[in-house]
Amino acid sequence: MKLAQVIVDVPAMQTDQPFSYLIPPRLTIDVGMRVEVGFGSRHVQGFVIGFEDAPVPLPTNLKPIIRVLDLTPVLNQELLALADYMKETTFAFKVTCLQTMLPSVMKADYQKRLYPLVDEPEINEKYFGTAESITWEEAEAQGWLKELAQLREQGIIELRYEVHTKNKIKTERYIKRTFLSEQVTELKAALRKNSPKQEQLLDYLAALADEQLVAVKQMKAEDFTLANLNQAEKKGWLTFLALEKYRDPYAEREIEHTTALQLNDEQQTAYEAISKASADNEHRVFLLEGVTGSGKTEVYLQVIQDVLAKQQTAMMLVPEISLTPQMATRFKARFGSEVAVLHSGLSQGEKYDEWRKLERGEAHVVVGARSAIFAPLENLGVIIIDEEHETSYKQDESPRYHARDLAIWRGKYHNCPVVLGSATPSLESRARGQKGVYQLMKLTRRANRNATLPTVEIVDMREEMQRRLNSSFSESLEEKIRDRLTKGEQSVLLLNRRGYSSFVMCRDCGFVLPCPNCDISLTLHMDTKTMRCHYCGHEEGIPHRCPNCGKDKIRYFGTGTEKVQEELAQLIPEARVLRMDVDTTRRKGAHEKILTAFGEREADILLGTQMIAKGLDFENVTLVGVLNADTALNLPDFRSSERTFQLLTQVSGRAGRGDKAGEVVIQTFNPEHYTIKLAQHHDYENFFQKEMRIRHQTDYPPYYYTVKVTISHQEEMRAAQKAFQLAEQIRSQLSAQSILLGPTPGAILRVKNRYYYQLIIKYKHEPHLPKTLEDILQVSQKDQRQGLLIAIDNEPMYFI
Ligand code: ADP
Ligand code: ZN
Repeated sequence: MKLAQVIVDVPAMQTDQPFSYLIPPRLTIDVGMRVEVGFGSRHVQGFVIGFEDAPVPLPTNLKPIIRVLDLTPVLNQELLALADYMKETTFAFKVTCLQTMLPSVMKADYQKRLYPLVDEPEINEKYFGTAESITWEEAEAQGWLKELAQLREQGIIELRYEVHTKNKIKTERYIKRTFLSEQVTELKAALRKNSPKQEQLLDYLAALADEQLVAVKQMKAEDFTLANLNQAEKKGWLTFLALEKYRDPYAEREIEHTTALQLNDEQQTAYEAISKASADNEHRVFLLEGVTGSGKTEVYLQVIQDVLAKQQTAMMLVPEISLTPQMATRFKARFGSEVAVLHSGLSQGEKYDEWRKLERGEAHVVVGARSAIFAPLENLGVIIIDEEHETSYKQDESPRYHARDLAIWRGKYHNCPVVLGSATPSLESRARGQKGVYQLMKLTRRANRNATLPTVEIVDMREEMQRRLNSSFSESLEEKIRDRLTKGEQSVLLLNRRGYSSFVMCRDCGFVLPCPNCDISLTLHMDTKTMRCHYCGHEEGIPHRCPNCGKDKIRYFGTGTEKVQEELAQLIPEARVLRMDVDTTRRKGAHEKILTAFGEREADILLGTQMIAKGLDFENVTLVGVLNADTALNLPDFRSSERTFQLLTQVSGRAGRGDKAGEVVIQTFNPEHYTIKLAQHHDYENFFQKEMRIRHQTDYPPYYYTVKVTISHQEEMRAAQKAFQLAEQIRSQLSAQSILLGPTPGAILRVKNRYYYQLIIKYKHEPHLPKTLEDILQVSQKDQRQGLLIAIDNEPMYFI
């Protein structure tokens, strides 16, 4: 006899292992299916990951699987193996890794239901009527909870936790004629006199081809009511069918088909190398370094075309914020319904439908953000990661995986090439390109022959501030915006918000409104007229008087997009401005609407945060202004220069993509900084060299590997003590070459009423480190039950 090995949905250290369950004969169970099992006194969702021989004699405490939640496995052998790899490298619970791979609708949703246990007609009649059971919520709404709790104690009813998954399939109803069209006269003759509607319906049905389906929706449009159709069904004229319907978010749009462009020689070389590796079933990692607008996407498209031609599948990852409708449309235009798109702008149902198209082999190309790396594609021919340097490819909660690592794992599994593309590769990838671990290929000029890289002007805001008090706009930038207005050209303005926010401060006593739960000041939101905490979501009204000294000298500080928008309205009132930031794009589809409006030239200026820096391709944009280039430059994170360089390059790349030349204005308080100067000249190569020297001197990646350990507790002492204890423990295990930084308090010590401490381990070769860290998690189980949290972040993206 076989037992099923099940990973249960109880993410905790003690339960992070397979449990054995009996398989009732009525159930067909496969590896990779989700099941519902009893665990303790509850029902939970679980994943079947294997089978084992039942021991003899059979232990008496074994429980059976209650039911299966899937008809076929939702995770195949490859993805199950990938989950193991993910667990090993991210220190996450196995069940968290498994859940992460599936669309969110397949996450278990637990429902409490009440069932009658004994046959007490009176009681059953009162609470259950004809139903088999009722939900907890229904009982609560009726005010029955107390009575039912008593009945439960008496053993008359029972409470069950049940697993629900929301992966509903959307269907559409159709009708089909069930008589032969020759029979129509006969049927009509049998009708009562004066039934014109029914005659009409018979005629309509008779005119249909055999087996032709007509949507009920369509029938209604033809003026037949549901009642007419139901009647007809009773008479045996037609049957109803429900057919599965995909929610296609791109359905309404007419997309014009595009064909392959004639590649230039640099593109051709890259395309041939990648396509050949794919044809030879050879796993290799290519780093495609191409300036903005050099035609990287066109190369991807043509590689994918070849992959599809040999009946294989392709995966294309793009950062969430660059996954604009523009981007998705480019793939749909080339490959039509072969493409499934996965991104967070879709509803859960839409995402699930796209996922199923891939699973059932109806679509062979996925275009998606980070989690699309788990797309259930078989027979992969290529995996492409565009803008590979983007930090959003690393998930910042458990499991803390990097899509690039998983892409390489899958590429090896399928013997197919992985392409990393960027205008500004991460130092890690570029260093690997240098060493030949990755194959480096360059596209050095813009693909559109008439487009050139824009000229970049640096404005020293220190001088400017003395002349133009407190304005966000330098004279030069203002002048250039006006110039574009007269020419009917468009401008993009970037406000770099990282490490920057607008807050209110009392001019008299200097008081800044803090969050009651976190050590951070509240941010002003003009749209909702509230003060909000960006960490815990706490919200309160805008104070008119200083809560500290009581004077009415409260003023705004810092520069938010809203404030800049107001400033712009005063400075150039005739300019039409669209604003794009987290506040204006919260609603579904808002992002798309703003971009479409801008593309249709309904505005002269697009003002926004980082999210406008990526992927936009508007030929009428000839000016890009960066209002504050260096707010992120001075953050105490060794990657701050790299990020600033990437951002400036990306945003500059938005200018001059068409035939008209582009111009960029960068406003900065650090005009001498190498990052700013090299960004001015689009000089990635020298930036890479310079930054590598600094990383070498300061012992940072790519010369060292890093791990961040974060310890948090509601009491500061407990967090600090544990941090020091762990630091000791880890230090004693490290080799002399490795470096341990900390413990230090987190950049924001307190978040959501928890205190954070962190340790950073830097190492070159430390084969036992994973084991040491795994042990730390095991040994700290008791502390963890008492509210201590330990998070391990392998190769963290942020150091603060
Ligand atoms: P990237 O992905 O490197 O930013 P894109 O693929 O978006 O570059 O190309 C930039 C522009 O150049 C697009 O408008 C694209 O249609 C055009 N383009 C790309 N390759 C070619 C080519 N070989 N010939 C002409 N135009 C091209
Ligand atoms: Zn807060």
